[in-house]
Amino acid sequence: MSSPLEGKVTVVTGGASGVGLGIAQEFVAQGAHVVITDLQQDPLDQAVATIGPNCSGIVADVTKLADMEAAYQEVIARHGHLDAVIANAGIGAHAPLGQITEEQFDRTFDVNAKGVLFTIQPAIPLLPSGGTIVIIGSTASIQSPYGMGLYGGSKAAVRAFIRSWIQDIKGTGIRMNVLSPGAVDTESLRHALGMAQGADQVDAAVKRMGEGNPTGRIADPREMGKAAAFLSSDASSFITGIELFVDGGMAQV
Ligand code: NAD
Repeated sequence: MSSPLEGKVTVVTGGASGVGLGIAQEFVAQGAHVVITDLQQDPLDQAVATIGPNCSGIVADVTKLADMEAAYQEVIARHGHLDAVIANAGIGAHAPLGQITEEQFDRTFDVNAKGVLFTIQPAIPLLPSGGTIVIIGSTASIQSPYGMGLYGGSKAAVRAFIRSWIQDIKGTGIRMNVLSPGAVDTESLRHALGMAQGADQVDAAVKRMGEGNPTGRIADPREMGKAAAFLSSDASSFITGIELFVDGGMAQV
């Protein structure tokens, strides 16, 4: 039996590491042809080598519309069509109210909000009826703990975006949803924990985070891939405009 993602050409932004890499691996495992985009060639090449066949890379900065337009043109040149987009590229921001700088504010919203716009806008004319867009949000949009207000705000923006944008694309047959992870075990999460608590405390901090979750653990990046695959397949054919929390129940605690 063929997989629901069989042959689907999928772009995953920020796919060279972490959640995006996990999503790309899962999509390829489920039969998709994945093009990952990211800021630099070397990490992209390493990720493509890790993922294996049916994956290629394109350097593109989501904050630059021209980069994204060129990336989609290249995808069409390589594959002839585009079926699914995962707007995953994002950056963290940690600063309490009194310490947020203008530069940090602008950079956070540039990547996490404007980057989503520039990922989606040029994709819309290329996607067929049945095409899908999944934006990676975060539970920080509803549960911003200390110092996470700026990041949480930038992630809350995407929920508001799609509520309006699904009406703007009415009649195209394209669906658009937000997938919001809780804590995912990625190098960037471990790096942030190391900066906050000391490099030798990272494993203990990850364990503590897991113990606070109803499932007793934090997520593996591939689990975001499984949920994104659902939102990108016909299994979710009447689901659009939602925010799906993939957080082991943490947002309910
Ligand atoms: P990560 O840093 O490992 O991966 C992000 C990738 O995006 C990197 O490869 C980076 O180079 C790329 N990127 C950054 N800016 C870019 C730009 N302007 N253009 C193109 N690529 C760019 O981080 P991650 O943890 O894998 O995060 C991926 C997404 O998941 C983000 O949107 C993040 O907010 C979200 N998220 C992560 C977690 C978590 O616990 N790791 C939880 C909730 C949400």
